[in-house]
Amino acid sequence: MKKLLAMLLCAAIVFGAVPLFTACAKGGERNEYRITAELKENVVTGTEEFTFRNDEDTSFTVLKFNLFGNAYREGAKYAPISAAYVSAYYDGKDYGSMEIKSVQPCADWKISGEDENILEVTLEEELFPRESVCLEIGYTLTLAKVNHRTGIAERAVNLGNFYPILCAYEAGRGFYECAYYADGDPFYSECADYTVTFTAPSEYTVAASGQTVTAQERGGKRTATYELENARDFALVCGREFEVYQTDAGGVQVLYYCYADDAAQETLDLLADCMEYYAQTFGAYPYKTYSAVQTGFCFGGMEYPGLVMLSDALTKKDSMYTAAHETAHQWWYAAVGNNQLENAWMDEGLAEYSSYLFFSERVEYGVDAKARMETAHTAYNALCSVQEQVFGEADTSMNRKLGSYGGYEYVVIAYDKGMLLFDTLRDAVGDKRFFAGLKRYYKEYGGKIAVPEELADCFKSAGAAGVIASFTDGTAVL
Ligand SMILES: [Zn+2]
Repeated sequence: MKKLLAMLLCAAIVFGAVPLFTACAKGGERNEYRITAELKENVVTGTEEFTFRNDEDTSFTVLKFNLFGNAYREGAKYAPISAAYVSAYYDGKDYGSMEIKSVQPCADWKISGEDENILEVTLEEELFPRESVCLEIGYTLTLAKVNHRTGIAERAVNLGNFYPILCAYEAGRGFYECAYYADGDPFYSECADYTVTFTAPSEYTVAASGQTVTAQERGGKRTATYELENARDFALVCGREFEVYQTDAGGVQVLYYCYADDAAQETLDLLADCMEYYAQTFGAYPYKTYSAVQTGFCFGGMEYPGLVMLSDALTKKDSMYTAAHETAHQWWYAAVGNNQLENAWMDEGLAEYSSYLFFSERVEYGVDAKARMETAHTAYNALCSVQEQVFGEADTSMNRKLGSYGGYEYVVIAYDKGMLLFDTLRDAVGDKRFFAGLKRYYKEYGGKIAVPEELADCFKSAGAAGVIASFTDGTAVL
């Protein structure tokens, strides 16, 4: 979306009827979520005031929201966890759900989508360009016992994707509905401003995207309000056993929540070092706080703006690499967005390559970056060889949609081939253009969504688009 602040201010004057709907908004330039939610046992009960500002050149009669939490229900067509990771259900198979209780004001609302994964709201009135509307959505999120993004993990409560989130809007395609593909991160959203007021039993320590602005304890409960501006999403993790370590990295408060890390101070130092290295190499981190949270998670880690989950099952070395990778996602995903369902390599490849750069530079950590690059080559060649034997030819194209890859294939294409793409691009354009290109990409597309051609253009080199295209269409020979 293009952000036209001046036009919005004009619109507020011209459209006198609008304030009726904007009463719950601060009047900023972005869409806005004001969420009040409470965790009681395994249920989050929430009210979401959502302000939609129409910055498009078209009018809207319907808004669509992804309900990721509903993928955890029994009978979901797109189960969030593949059979290979079924042990994430540590206490046997369990289910959750996201249920919408009310939406107002609106003409109508219904649950739709391929897999009951979409809340579709018909507005009371057509919303024209530069107008805004505010909806109040009441919902409950029931949490399954599962070591995954949304659920009661073994030693913490993971609240990724805990609220209805507006589908990203693409001109010509409309609202982009995300099915919950088990392999990959099936999330695609635009930046908005968040105010989240969250209540949980006092025994929990809560890690959150965003800065705490108020907190109070009463009747065995703790309520805190967090703010985060210009963010693609918002997540929380609640733990009873957390020890919290914190430091400062170039003016950013870095927090590390953990319960099983013998070298917690070292992990914190690594996180802070990553923050400083990426800020110097790509551009300043956009938020005031950054929280890394150890929790039960069946993959290595998961990124949200201002917060990452790090699996408590990782070895020391894997945990270092994961910390560097997830931290890099603050630049590639949280700030610069991309369609993660169709171009996953853009953020995953760049996060992998960023951690490669970090460990190449910071040899004192003892993580062999060169070996990681060689592993990527080996994995890629092995995938090609298997595909050639089985199918007669290898399909290594990279812009396929999630769901069309097997789990292993997805990892090799998005992560391994993704980092090989950026390494080849660096060789092709030279260090100076490469690093200037990444800085430009971050500066121009931070807070926005970029497509592969826009990434290529940032390198200001005729060869860049060719390298990227040859990788993504699968014709590059590696
Ligand atoms: Zn990643």
